[in-house]
Amino acid sequence: MPAAGKVPDTPVEILVDVLTKAMAVASSSVNVPQELKSHLQEALDIACGLDNYLEEMSTPESEPLAELYRETVSHDWDRVHQEGKTMFRLPKECVTGHVEGQTLKMLVHMSQAKRVLEIGMFTGYGALSMAEGLPEDGCLVACELEPYLKDFSRPLFDKSPHGSKISVRTGSAMDTLQELAAAGEQFDMVFIDADKDNYINYYNFILDNNLLRMRGVICVDNTLFKSKVYLNHVTDANGLALRRFNQFVSADPRVEQVILPLRDGLSIIRRVPATSEGVKAQDKITDDVVFRGVKGQPILDRLRLDGKVAYVTGGGQGIGRAFAHALGEAGAKVAVVDLDQDKAEAVAKELLVKGISSMSITADVSKVEDVRRMVEAVVGRWGALHVACNNAGINMNSASEETTLEEWDKTFDVNLRGTFMCCQAAGRVMLKQGYGKIINTASMASLIVPHPQKQLSYNTSKAGVVKLTQTLGTEWIDRGVRVNCISPGIVDTPLIHSESLRPLVQRWLSDIPAGRLAQVTDLQAAVVFLASDTSDYMTGHNLVIEGGQSLW
Ligand code: NAP
Repeated sequence: MPAAGKVPDTPVEILVDVLTKAMAVASSSVNVPQELKSHLQEALDIACGLDNYLEEMSTPESEPLAELYRETVSHDWDRVHQEGKTMFRLPKECVTGHVEGQTLKMLVHMSQAKRVLEIGMFTGYGALSMAEGLPEDGCLVACELEPYLKDFSRPLFDKSPHGSKISVRTGSAMDTLQELAAAGEQFDMVFIDADKDNYINYYNFILDNNLLRMRGVICVDNTLFKSKVYLNHVTDANGLALRRFNQFVSADPRVEQVILPLRDGLSIIRRVPATSEGVKAQDKITDDVVFRGVKGQPILDRLRLDGKVAYVTGGGQGIGRAFAHALGEAGAKVAVVDLDQDKAEAVAKELLVKGISSMSITADVSKVEDVRRMVEAVVGRWGALHVACNNAGINMNSASEETTLEEWDKTFDVNLRGTFMCCQAAGRVMLKQGYGKIINTASMASLIVPHPQKQLSYNTSKAGVVKLTQTLGTEWIDRGVRVNCISPGIVDTPLIHSESLRPLVQRWLSDIPAGRLAQVTDLQAAVVFLASDTSDYMTGHNLVIEGGQSLW
């Protein structure tokens, strides 16, 4: 129910107001049948309860947002205007409320926006709500006419960890839009909440000048404007401007729109794909698979692994853990395989917490029985195996003249024999399926001889992994199974943190053009690429990721 004394501002608040008046008339009249009164009461209860219920059931606002709201509604905007600090008398009702703020934040999340443009900021409640939904490197540009509001909101933004994502540009919004367009800026989401008679100009400028990124959305506030957009006999200039705006957008072939009856109405507008007939007809374009995308998908969607089943050996830490996360983030179900049960379980749990389907398997890849059990467990649970990441590996250092047969055999058992057994077990399933991606972890040591540490068995075993990959890659590709490998340079993982290797880090750094060791995250995109259909024409490839080290 609107607070006492508050002017009804939205269709529901107006409905409540009208029903309250009707109820008062009905209650004071003896001629009104009881049945009509109880219908009126029921209508009033339904209308009255809606906003409160939405408020209660939506996630509470953060403390910085709550403070911003309190400061906005308690500020003396009349006095500020009388003192000449604002050009216009600003009504505190302009503040975006809790439910709408959470809706905007949700839309930022859902559209995975990284860059948001807001036209009409007021004190920044909407801006900060959206900033909370942006990733750490996201940004929001807010256009605001009144310089006073920029100064008002900045200290409040600074109390939030998300406030630094917001930059406020004061002055005419149209001037700012022109500057942004001239600078080639683009946005994933645009929120328009400014002078109503200019909505249509902002909207057209954004679309005509490509300020909205491919797949971006425009959200527009107040598009039900106190019901004046659909009632007859309306003379209110803003109501009529919004009625024209809604009609224009609904007839615009460039977009699709829906108006949500949230508060005073929120339009969500998206540009229709360039592949739609309407758009294609406008321009002379080559309508082929490059234009449309393979299976109609833009390139980043083609990298997704939704529905794919993967396992990663040595997934309990280091590179394997990063691979497991990357494959899962891209949409695959992931079995985390490791010698160490606790480590495998811990990583599988990390994935589950992120909403990724996962399982843990304890297995030693140097044991044929374990390898068989691993593949059976994956196929038994998920019915298929599409991506096999054979990543487990060990490295022991010794001068070649002192390398024992035990060290040699152990290294080869895990690194080469183990990788072969995994390839074979996974390959048998994949060949039957007619589809599969095997990604082995080799090493830069397959190409160069890393130094000064001495690691004959390791280098030789990894060279073997590359040849194994090339051979299987050519043997199986005509049956739908691609086999590739990734060769990392020196990666900052527990593998190189041993007492003997740690002192060598400075020496290695001088050999690396990139000037730093690799992080496990530097390798994640490669495994997703090799696991996805985008790399279907690649097989037997050794993808070297070493910051240029093998070139010096
Ligand atoms: P890591 O930190 O030592 O992790 C390897 C994981 O594999 C560990 O959890 C380990 O378990 C597990 N593992 C070892 N032997 C296994 C076996 N027989 N069966 C199942 N799991 C086993 O190593 P990393 O640095 O992430 O290396 C991963 C792969 O990248 C290896 O093939 C490595 O040769 C290769 N690589 C690493 C670097 C680098 O600089 N780190 C560079 C190039 C290539 P435990 O800890 O319980 O033994």
